[in-house]
Amino acid sequence: MELLKKKIRDEGMVLNEHVLKVDSFINHQMDPVLMKEMGKEFAKRFKDNGVTKILTIESSGIAPAIMAGLELDIPVIFARKKKSLTLTDDLYTSKVYSFTKKETNTITVSRKFFSEDDTILIIDDFLANGHAAFGLADLANQASATVAGIGIVIEKAFQPGGDELRARGYRVESLARISSLKHKTVKFVEEQKELEIY
Ligand code: 5GP
Repeated sequence: MELLKKKIRDEGMVLNEHVLKVDSFINHQMDPVLMKEMGKEFAKRFKDNGVTKILTIESSGIAPAIMAGLELDIPVIFARKKKSLTLTDDLYTSKVYSFTKKETNTITVSRKFFSEDDTILIIDDFLANGHAAFGLADLANQASATVAGIGIVIEKAFQPGGDELRARGYRVESLARISSLKHKTVKFVEEQKELEIY
């Protein structure tokens, strides 16, 4: 998605070879126009897959997920990372190691929000080692729901999450795929290479 790539080129900050900071348009300040376009793009890619609900994780997955939910006209559920006093009913839980915080969180969603009749689209801001996406898929699987696919805003394709999810049969759609963050420079997976791989 060119608009997103341009934003990453213009405003993304390479913290080190493994981490990209995008806090001026995704992770702290947010760009609603870009979010809207990303929602449209996710909706376009998954519109024929009978998706009934979107599942994301707080907090940075929520904005792109809600925009996709608006386009597809379906509810959006976000998994919580911390225990909530009001979230006491029957829960699905999974353990997720956080790439950025270097800690393991128990993520939860209430059982009342999805069932085996649901087809779930998982959305998140980044894909690195795949822990968040696998954890969300685990929640959907516990409900015996179908996972239509995983929509990612920025996939760091040099880290193993994307390959591992695809090897497990999940359809992963990323709006921008980064091949390297070496030398303080963002390199994208070339479109041609993408066509050859898929
Ligand atoms: P994974 O679970 O795939 O290892 O990492 C994905 C999660 O870690 C995302 O939910 C995102 O919050 C965070 N994350 C991973 N890599 C980056 C990165 O380079 N930049 C930022 N801002 N967040 C990241």
